[in-house]
Amino acid sequence: MRVGIIGAGQLGQMLGFAARNLDIECRFLDPSPSPPAGVCGEIIQRPFDDAASLDELARTCDVITYEFENVPVAALQRIATDVPVYPPVDALRQAQDRLFEKQLFTALDIPLPGYHAIQASDDCAIAADKLGLPMVVKTRRLGYDGKGQVVVREPNDLGTAWKAVGGQALIAEQWVDFDMEISAIGVRNAAGEIRTYPLTRNVHREGILRTSAAPLDNAVLERKASGFMHHMLEHLQYVGVLALELFVCGDELLANEFAPRVHNSGHWTIEGSATSQFENHLRAVAGLPLGSTRSRGHAGMVNLIGEIPNAARELTAIHLHDYGKTPRPGRKLGHITVVADTATSRDELVDSVNEIVN
Ligand code: AMP
Repeated sequence: MRVGIIGAGQLGQMLGFAARNLDIECRFLDPSPSPPAGVCGEIIQRPFDDAASLDELARTCDVITYEFENVPVAALQRIATDVPVYPPVDALRQAQDRLFEKQLFTALDIPLPGYHAIQASDDCAIAADKLGLPMVVKTRRLGYDGKGQVVVREPNDLGTAWKAVGGQALIAEQWVDFDMEISAIGVRNAAGEIRTYPLTRNVHREGILRTSAAPLDNAVLERKASGFMHHMLEHLQYVGVLALELFVCGDELLANEFAPRVHNSGHWTIEGSATSQFENHLRAVAGLPLGSTRSRGHAGMVNLIGEIPNAARELTAIHLHDYGKTPRPGRKLGHITVVADTATSRDELVDSVNEIVN
């Protein structure tokens, strides 16, 4: 079985490593000169929407998947007539636009923060009236890791926000004073088999994920999130891993966004679960039975951003993943996972790693 993967970043690399255990060969499409996944498969070094390269990938692979969310939908739709493309292109289309994403949550009765679509500068004031301040204004498309977002705290900030991100389709969201952020990760194969991982608690700083910890151990939230996940996977006739990011307010969950791909907040599953999100994604797209999502203990993950300090390499009893990327401020270069017998010892380990890397 050969799987074509669009994007050859760290997610592609971890998919490529998982593929080895399943005897799956991976072939990647990525314009970068030496992407992280180059160590685990052949790279076609061309743009993501290069028609000839996509045709070649479709011709030479049994199934196509993607690890990068901004793949042009039209390019995928074209090859989807020749080869299965998973997750379904329609799920990607909805995930690429924050307005479509919110309309999907609404249609599925998944609670979400109040929002208002913004087309022109006047809409900012209308949004502020409707949602109250603070609110956050986000670009509808191409935002990631907090990029393309401005928090409007007082009426005077409205003009500044428009200057910063205006002139493109925007969405304003009610500011959520959440207790914590979590993600739900689920997987479905074409036979309709569904598995979910335990909820993961995530901490972001400057819009970038810093640490994750799982399992959350909250039966009420697990039940709600699992319901949302099943609903989404079935509605979208989804195949592959899907990550749903949620804000927790007491016992309530509000959907923030979803990613139709393996997700940074699921990296802990490599060591912390019976079957990692990467292996289960490949199992799903390759039409194999899904693996158990049972936890192997209490896992924590710390992202290595901007640099990987030498001291981190000297730590023992941790799992360090170095993606082999050139250091740059704000760039995700690797991560560290710890697995412990109890949540307390996991948190202590995460704190000691954080002292070194953050
Ligand atoms: P996003 O790109 O939408 O995931 O936003 C990045 C981060 O900004 C989130 O993980 C939150 O920490 C924060 N954030 C985004 N939207 C909101 C909101 N409506 N209320 C409060 N915090 C938010």
